[in-house]
Amino acid sequence: MSTHSWTTRAVHAGKDDLAALGLHAPPIDLSTTYPSHDVVAEAGRLDEFAEGHDDGGPPVYGRVANPTVRRFERALAELEGAKAAVAFASGMAALSACLLAQVAAGKPHVVGVRPLYGTTDHLLGSGLLGTSVTWTSPDDAASAITEDTGLVVVESPANPTLDEVDVRALADACAPVPVLVDNTFATPVLQRPLTLGAGMVLHSATKYLGGHGDVMGGVIACDEELARSLRQVRFMTGAVLHPIAGYELLRGLATLPVRVRAASATAAELARRLAEHPRVTRLHYPRLGGAMVSFETSVDPVALVSAVRLITPAVSLGSVDSLIQHPASLTHRIMDEVSRKDAGISPDLVRLSVGLEDVEDLWADLDQAFRRGEVGGVRLP
Ligand SMILES: *Cc1c(COP(=O)(O)O)cnc(C)c1O
Repeated sequence: MSTHSWTTRAVHAGKDDLAALGLHAPPIDLSTTYPSHDVVAEAGRLDEFAEGHDDGGPPVYGRVANPTVRRFERALAELEGAKAAVAFASGMAALSACLLAQVAAGKPHVVGVRPLYGTTDHLLGSGLLGTSVTWTSPDDAASAITEDTGLVVVESPANPTLDEVDVRALADACAPVPVLVDNTFATPVLQRPLTLGAGMVLHSATKYLGGHGDVMGGVIACDEELARSLRQVRFMTGAVLHPIAGYELLRGLATLPVRVRAASATAAELARRLAEHPRVTRLHYPRLGGAMVSFETSVDPVALVSAVRLITPAVSLGSVDSLIQHPASLTHRIMDEVSRKDAGISPDLVRLSVGLEDVEDLWADLDQAFRRGEVGGVRLP
């Protein structure tokens, strides 16, 4: 591994071989199949691929692996301090692969630390993939582990309340059961859970890693043994990342540190001002920092979200432009009311994903939205 700083590696990771290839931008390989002139040798390689190994050579078939996607996987693994990374079509496809791998290994029980992303909560609660779940607080997670437990799932900072979990303490308490940390909100710029003892890191790459609201993807960073089981599941179930998405995500990583630091500085300033706003009843902003701010408000939250003009009222997050949404109506709607309450998600909570706009323009927009929201009845045309 290179001796350069982490920020430098974010720019160059996954591209170290380009100069020798006489290239500057990474090539996009759109092949769905690869020539297999030596059938016997290729059959042997296919057996290895089916076992989850990846020799980095021509992948035989497009569902097995892709050279452009591999570049993104190598780069993300390096930035998370992992041996390997396995990319998927979306964050939920990545989580599904983890759950299926765990069921295949005969450990179908999951310990879920709430709050989690709404669909993650729903997938675990539904048992759709053959898992069962016990919901706990971080402190009670270890005592919820049984002989059948294959995974502890946690988000920190969590969606949408931005609750923080002591990952090191949780991983220590739960060992040897691997802790999967959804690091979508913090990104490896602010937190590298594997260095804190986590077994797996999940990203909805759709968010900060892509960073421009124009690519969907998911990725798991982990050790090579877990990566093999995830590649096996991906090979069998087919939720592959498209090569163009792989290209876009690799490009996103190069600006990730700059984007996250700039947006976090703006978010910290907005959090400071929101905390003093007469219509904010409770502010949620992580000690760790970051570009997400949530707050509870005495204004009708739906009217507030509908009243923004510069900020876009929309789900998702981590884009160059700012987005605002009402979790109880949208991202966490799929949870029932009791589960939402259990997870600490107030009906008055509003979640703001801070982008790269000027802080004064964002504040002016929020301020006018509070005033229009106060009048009430404001709806988008
Ligand atoms: C969006 C999101 C997911 C799901 O990712 P998709 O790419 O939408 O499938 C999982 N976890 C968190 C924290 C998210 O914000």
